[in-house]
Amino acid sequence: MAQENEQPDPKVADGKKHFFIVGGSLGGLAAGLVLRQLGHDTTILERNPTPVLEHQGAGIVAGGDTLAFFKKHNRCDRRIAVTSHRRQYLDKDGNVIHKEDMDQNMTSWDLAYYLMRANYDGVENAYCMVPDAKPTDGKAVHLHDRTVTDIQARDDGVEVSWTSSRGEAGRVQADVLIGADGPSSTVRTLLAPEVQRVYAGYCALRGTRDVSDAARESFCERFTFFHAPGVQILAYLIPGPDGAVEPGKRLINFVYYTNFPEGSTELKELMTDKHGKRRRITMPPGLTAPAAWEKQRKIARERLPPQFAEIVCATRKPFVQAVTDVISPTNEFLDGKVVLIGDALAGFRPHTVASTSQAAFDAMVLGDYVSGKVSREEWKRQTLGFARFIQKRGVDMGNRSQFEDLPLEEHIRDRNAASVPREEEVYPEWATAI
Ligand SMILES: Cc1cc2nc3c(=O)[nH]c(=O)nc-3n(C[C@H](O)[C@H](O)[C@H](O)COP(=O)(O)OP(=O)(O)OC[C@H]3O[C@@H](n4cnc5c(N)ncnc54)[C@H](O)[C@@H]3O)c2cc1C
Repeated sequence: MAQENEQPDPKVADGKKHFFIVGGSLGGLAAGLVLRQLGHDTTILERNPTPVLEHQGAGIVAGGDTLAFFKKHNRCDRRIAVTSHRRQYLDKDGNVIHKEDMDQNMTSWDLAYYLMRANYDGVENAYCMVPDAKPTDGKAVHLHDRTVTDIQARDDGVEVSWTSSRGEAGRVQADVLIGADGPSSTVRTLLAPEVQRVYAGYCALRGTRDVSDAARESFCERFTFFHAPGVQILAYLIPGPDGAVEPGKRLINFVYYTNFPEGSTELKELMTDKHGKRRRITMPPGLTAPAAWEKQRKIARERLPPQFAEIVCATRKPFVQAVTDVISPTNEFLDGKVVLIGDALAGFRPHTVASTSQAAFDAMVLGDYVSGKVSREEWKRQTLGFARFIQKRGVDMGNRSQFEDLPLEEHIRDRNAASVPREEEVYPEWATAI
């Protein structure tokens, strides 16, 4: 990231600033942590009405930038991942038809979140001890129930308007505003309203379950896949409750991609929750309508290898994500007073296993820019290069997997391409153009 002999941009290298961050998920927390540890004051505005986001996510493949982020910015002493040692592919009968030795680290969304909260604003939790702040750290404020609704440029920064679920409203003044508010970003929509988030034609059905004897052989410390026309399912082991990484406490996490055409009855059924509310993008854990889920269980038994059918059918709180595409044309607006990071900048398809890494990388390279270690041009080039290149890769991988009938070798090739460390990727010119 940081390169020698580059001139810092004076606008950001001239002393302590107050950064406001919209969104308190992994991207917002990563940025808050990096900037705070550089001595800047930070305030996160998160729309969720409760003080913490919890029990909504499942597994995360912790890529190189996620691990690098935690190595550098996490002051809690604990293991953050479970290592899978092998990739393997099954046929419909459940036989292993291809395997490769490869270490990959898997964590859980909750563990990543609580580690970041413990480090950022000292939230006590069952996952880790809260580390001491350093005297050089800037302020870290996390405000929940703050939905950002408007942004106005001012001479010396940005005025940000928010509302709460209790009908309150307010305004704050930021030196710099960071939009870490996810793929449907309000910040991006206010500044680039032409950018649309578009449904890709399939959903990811997700969930976790305990490690049964039947599942142990197929999924313990293995990253296991199955492909069929219009279907892909994968599973891996993740930390269990409270982030436990010990055998016996870990969980199996699965992601099951299956096609649901736009406007179809099947999509409507799946995305209408048990209270009758139609959800556009996400069906949170525990809210799937029982009849709709029963139908998916039946389909899973018919078309998945037995080991995968077993974990899908046994999951107690499934959740669903409609797979979508979105990318912003740029990562900064209002002459650098507003910056987009993570999913707000580019929402990747999950096949890339790179969304958390993007959030971590964007936060770290932003820190390099703010501290003057890289130039504005280099910061933009690196951030946009990652966003554009991986976003396109996700579209290609997903479309090939869901809408083409390919031999297994092609799926393996796509998957292996997505595992190349970021430092070894050579971005084409279109990706880094600024
Ligand atoms: C609850 C939750 C669970 C997830 N679970 C998984 C998982 O299991 N596996 C996985 O790989 N990825 C998961 N993700 C996605 C993953 O966190 C992201 O892809 C990645 O880490 C980058 O995230 P981000 O912070 O850029 O965006 P996001 O994670 O989408 O977070 C955006 C945040 O901004 C907040 N927000 C949105 N609009 C506003 C507004 N107007 N004002 C204030 N706040 C706003 C949202 O409430 C949210 O907390 C999950 C995300 C969330 C929010």
